[in-house]
Amino acid sequence: MIEVAELTKRYGSTVALGGVGFSVPPGSVTGLLGPNGAGKTTIVKILLGLVRQDTGRALIHGERYRDLTAPLRTVGALLEAGCAHRGRTARRHLRWLARSNRIPLSRIDAVLEQVGLPDRAARARISAFSLGMTQRLGLAAALLGDPDVLVLDEPVNGLDAEGIIWLRSFLRRQADQGRTVLVSSHLMTEVARTADRLVVIGGGRVLADLPTDELIERYARPGVRVTARDPARLAAVLRGAGWEVRPLPDGALSVTGATAGQVGDLAGRHRIVLESLGGTSGSLEDAYLDLVARADNPPPPASPPSSAPATPRPSTATLPPSSAVTPRKDSR
Ligand code: ADP
Repeated sequence: MIEVAELTKRYGSTVALGGVGFSVPPGSVTGLLGPNGAGKTTIVKILLGLVRQDTGRALIHGERYRDLTAPLRTVGALLEAGCAHRGRTARRHLRWLARSNRIPLSRIDAVLEQVGLPDRAARARISAFSLGMTQRLGLAAALLGDPDVLVLDEPVNGLDAEGIIWLRSFLRRQADQGRTVLVSSHLMTEVARTADRLVVIGGGRVLADLPTDELIERYARPGVRVTARDPARLAAVLRGAGWEVRPLPDGALSVTGATAGQVGDLAGRHRIVLESLGGTSGSLEDAYLDLVARADNPPPPASPPSSAPATPRPSTATLPPSSAVTPRKDSR
């Protein structure tokens, strides 16, 4: 079990975390999702005692990392690839880790097999490893103490397609065996394939915290994605027609509740040149971009903030007060 509560962290004038809280239950994969700079690594580093928070708690099985009596046997961590001494062989690196943490050497073969590093690779110097092999070695090191908590920062980075598929089933197996698994990623589609729950963060705040399928249902509303030569004018016209419009980070506009035909007609009547126009079925990626965009650009007062809950609801969902997100239904 991982519990993070009211975590704040500033680096000089940069607020990396502005009061983050969530928990990660055992037996499931939780995705910590957010764009670059959202604060994911800071959370992971605080959890692992590598960075000290300003305020708040980050606990593993109810304890701070530095108070754990056998950290490597409790938490397996993967930070950026390439932490190992590159002149060593993989096997020597694992042997050194095992010895210094009083872990039986027999675990080495077990974890090498678990992560699919063949003996030939284990005897090679780490400097000759591809990024994918380095990631596998990092995972082997994380598993060495047979921990029941795994904290992996962007484990997909550097993996090829085969490695990604392998990682997915690897994480699923770990959770199915009862482990608590927290995986950070900036890739929505990827993490949503594996994670049972998603904690979406942006700008150092929790934007959503709920089961993956609920996140899709709640945020991935069908609508229209449109790009125009003059997006600001198009947005004004569409809002004038009563539709909810949000700029997406790539410059497109997301229009909720309209059909492509309606948007095309309206643009035509106002002689606004469209560059692309299409209906969206409410994809996961859009839901994510939408959430992040909502946090960056809170909707104008025209969209009804009055119907948003006045106080955070004690349900699984945590929404920023400024987002004015009105879930279609609360399934709780
Ligand atoms: P993520 O992992 O989601 O990309 P980070 O936790 O690395 O985000 O960073 C969150 C914010 O804190 C960013 O604005 C980043 O620039 C800043 N930051 C992170 N580490 C440091 C540091 N050591 N010194 C100064 N600023 C930092």
